[in-house]
This record gives sequence, C-alpha cells and structure tokens, in this order.
Amino acid sequence: MTASDMPAREPGQDFIRDIVTSDLAGGRHKTVVTRFPPEPNGYLHIGHAKSICLNFGVASEFGGHCNLRFDDTNPAKEEQEYIDAIERDVRWLGFDWGDNLFHASDYFERLYEWAEVLIKAGKAYVDDQTHEEMRANRGTLTEPGRDSPFRGRSVDENLDLFRRMRAGEFPNGARVLRAKIDMAAGNINLRDPVMYRILHAPHPRTGTTWSIYPSYDYAHGQSDAIEGVTHSLCTLEFADHKPLYDWFIDNLPVPSKPHQYEFARLNLDYTILSKRVLTQLVRDGHVSGWDDPRMPTIAGIRRRGVPPEALRAFAASIGVARADSRVDYAMFEHPIRELLNKTASRRMAVLRPLKVVIENYPEGQVEELDAINNPEDEAAGSRKVTFGREIFIERDDFMEVPAKKFFRLAPGQEVRLRYAYFVKCTGVVKDASGEVTELRCTYDPETRGGNTPPDGRKVKATLHWVSAAGAVPAEVRLVNHLFANPNPDAGNFAAELNPNSLEVLTGCMLEAAAVASNEAAPMQFERQGYFVRDRDSTPGNPVFVRTVGLKDSFARAVAKG
Ligand code: ATP
Ligand code: MG
Repeated sequence: MTASDMPAREPGQDFIRDIVTSDLAGGRHKTVVTRFPPEPNGYLHIGHAKSICLNFGVASEFGGHCNLRFDDTNPAKEEQEYIDAIERDVRWLGFDWGDNLFHASDYFERLYEWAEVLIKAGKAYVDDQTHEEMRANRGTLTEPGRDSPFRGRSVDENLDLFRRMRAGEFPNGARVLRAKIDMAAGNINLRDPVMYRILHAPHPRTGTTWSIYPSYDYAHGQSDAIEGVTHSLCTLEFADHKPLYDWFIDNLPVPSKPHQYEFARLNLDYTILSKRVLTQLVRDGHVSGWDDPRMPTIAGIRRRGVPPEALRAFAASIGVARADSRVDYAMFEHPIRELLNKTASRRMAVLRPLKVVIENYPEGQVEELDAINNPEDEAAGSRKVTFGREIFIERDDFMEVPAKKFFRLAPGQEVRLRYAYFVKCTGVVKDASGEVTELRCTYDPETRGGNTPPDGRKVKATLHWVSAAGAVPAEVRLVNHLFANPNPDAGNFAAELNPNSLEVLTGCMLEAAAVASNEAAPMQFERQGYFVRDRDSTPGNPVFVRTVGLKDSFARAVAKG
C-alpha cells in the first residue's frame, strides 16, 4: 500500500490511538495508563514535547492517566535543577500529572529484591571483568560474544558478592551484576546486559543509601510494570531493547505486563534534538543557557514567547508515525503565527531608525492619534499614539535612488504613515561619509488618520513609524536558526553553528505602549513580526526577543499546492 492509498486520518488520530481504541473495545484493558519518563540529566526539548503531548494526550482522551516518572538511575549525571525544570516545563505545556509523580528511585528496593530473585534462579551473575574486557567480549553484529570467565559463579557466591556490592565494599567499576541470557544472541542487547553497577555517588532523592544503581534497561520495564502502565510509548531506538524488557518481565514476579509501542522521534530542520549536544552547547558557552531563545528546549521556546497552545498545535500537526522523518521548520512556525495573529496586540516599533523632520509641521506641537490594537479582535479596542514634527522610520523604507517598484519613501515620493498622515520626501541630509542621517519631508494636514485626501490622491505604501516625542529606546534581539544547515551533523555540531543566529539591535525606537504594559504576551510589531519582552530588560533598557517573523512560508507552500 502506498501512502496515497492509505485511509486519511482525522487530525489527532494515529496508529497508537488505534491500538488503544481496540484494546479498550476488545476488553484487553479497562483503562489506559501511559507515562512520560524523562531522565533528569538536562532540560526538555521540543522532541520531548512531542512525547509529552502524545502520552498525556492519549491518557486524557481515553479517560486514563499519565504518570510523570523520572528515570533517575544515574546520579552522576542527574541534578535537582533538571528535575525542577522538567516539572515546570510539563506544567507550562499544559499537562497535569496530579498525584501520579513517580521516580525510578522509588523502586530501588524492589528492583534490588528482584535482582536477587534472578540471582537465585541462576539468571544473573556478578562479573569482575573490566569495562574494556566486557566490551571486547561483547562481540559484534556479525560475531557472537564470548562468555565471561565469571559466568559460572555459584548462586551463593553471586549473592554474597552482590550483597557486598550493595554494602559499598568495592570501588566504582570493580564489578557489575549482569543478566545471564545468551552471549551469542543475535540481538546484542541480550548478550548478558548489565543490571547494576557500583557508583559511590549521592543521589538527589536517596542520598547515600545506595552504592549500586540499576541500569536504565533493567529499571525501565519493571517501573512500568509496578505502575500498571498499559501502553509504554517510546521512540524507535528502543525497539531493539524490547526483547530484553520482555525477558525481565517474563522472569520476574511483576504485578503487570506492559506493552511497548515505538514511534518516530521528532527531527526538526536546523535543530539538533539530543540532550548530549544541548548540554555541550550550554557548557561550552555557545548559548547563554538552557533557556537561550535560540535553544530548541521548552524553556528556550517559552522565553521566545511561543504560547503553549501553539506548541501543542505543532505536536498535533506533525502526528505520530512509525517511520523516521524530518519536519520542515515552517511547520513549527505556522501555528505560532496563526495563534498570535489572533491574539497579539499590534504596536509600532522602528528597529533600524532613520530620523525624519516634517518641515511644515508646527514646531513644539504633538498630537495623539488613534491606532487599532488588533484588527482580528474588535474587543481589543484602540490606543493613542503620539505624533510630532520629528519621527523615525525604518532605514529600509527609504532609498535615495529607488529601485524599480520601490514604492516606499524616496526623494519626491509620497507615502502614508499608518494612522497619521501622508508625507512626501523633500530632502536628504548626509554625514561627511555620505551616509543619509536624516530626511526632510512635508505632510498633508488633510490626510489626518492616514486618510485619502479630498483630491483622491493615492499612495502605494504605508509605513510604520514612531515619533521622537513618544519613542522609547530599546534593544531588540532577532533570533535566527542556531544551525546554518537544515540537517546539522550532531557529531560535529560546533562547526555547524550559524554565526548569525542572534542579531542584537540597539537604539530601536518603540512606541510607548509597547513598553508601558508589563504584559508577558508577545506583541506584533507591525510589518516586523512578533516580539516578547525579555527578562534581561532593565528599567533603562527594555529588551525584546523576536518570537517569529511575519512571513509564513508554510502557508504559501500550502496555498501554491
Ligand atoms: P536525548 O536523545 O535528547 O538525549 P533522551 O531520549 O535520552 O533524550 P529521555 O529523558 O530519556 O531523553 O526522554 C524521555 C522520553 O522522551 C523518552 O520516552 C524518549 O523516547 C522521548 N524523546 C526523546 N527525544 C525525543 C524526540 N526527539 N522525539 C520524540 N520523543 C523523544
Ligand atoms: Mg533516554
């Protein structure tokens, strides 16, 4: 069956929801329990957002619940800061785990007991090989592994050593506990995988109680079983681990048998979604922190001003499939624009100001003109903007020698200033180097409000502007792609960074209303894009970050078909 003969799915429908629907209809499960299982070794990124929307979404649509479970099995890499950030980010995205907050560390005692169950059944052993020896003996995809010389240890010796590992008698790395499965298994995950390693490190939750910690592979499936997870949803790279998870479940007295289903991870153009790489970007100072607005982290996306509804709409729009693919960046921006177009207040902001003196406008006069807050939302009303003899326009909106079809300001050319007047350029002032520093214009008092004059004269361009009398200077940060290449190489990420990922503009001129409100929501700076006030703002230097530009290449692509 080719893609085109497949039945079209309703939005919000996918193979996972089909499975859940049939499991509930067929009586295989009475309720659905999912979980989102982050390891607290970094901040969540937009790929995790896909998984969160899927797990919490499925649970709520089918009347079940979703657990938030920290897979906190490696205290060497895990920190309280990450635990707090993960909880904050899941909540911000709009999901609530209620009482269902769990940690793999809640189960350390039970997991330990179950490890002894396997030892007693002759299905686990303590191995004294070094890390290097174990690796050398693991074999390859084409060659079987070799049995460890310690594989034949007696149950009693294994129990004794394992208990002493727990008691902290041995240094880090001296021994491990391994499952005794099959060193010749075609699936390398079944070649006697490590269940416990010695690690003398304090744990954020269990302190110094433990000097051995379970591996992710050993802890994961049993944690699902303890929590009664019915549908254990994970990304495709775990498909090869499923036989191992099932082996543990089949050999242990677990209270339930979870089923794992794999879906494709999100890959987004111009973005690397790997906590390892994101950690490195932060540690090496390529970005200002986990919430740098260029970061694909939920914290960075939030700081950029993206509303959580838009991120959820993005997750719904990309769907859930079994085949890996890359998502066009325009798909991410599209729902942000759609939403902000409806909700954002319009303001005028001149990012690269060019001063204009209106010579026939009375000196010392200022007036207040009406400006509409949001043409998409009548209830948003209007505001006053200050007009006067000196204003700023965008440098780009003027050309001394206009190109063909350049209808904006040029010597002798007339334009409309939005909500204000028609103005015509009558002169240009330059500095010693020949650069234009100021324009001279005249205005037509009969066009007040930006209206057509009685003679019916038309202009072809409408410019935004800010009056010198009402302007507030500000810093504006234009956030661009962090990586220059649409498919950046995670192995060599530093070389792939976009040198222009952040443009900082200072001396931008904003109308007072853009700065006056303490609103956290993004605004539309007319003709520029959506911008949000940043927490780096100080009383003398308001700072704004661009959430997204106005151009929608996705909508255009769809319109063209
Ligand atoms: P990374 O690969 O970025 O280091 P991870 O998979 O190690 O992340 P976890 O904390 O283990 O991070 O992830 C928690 C859950 O989020 C897992 O179920 C994982 O499958 C899912 N997840 C991680 N990355 C993505 C992604 N890009 N798309 C969808 N789901 C993802
Ligand atoms: Mg992981």
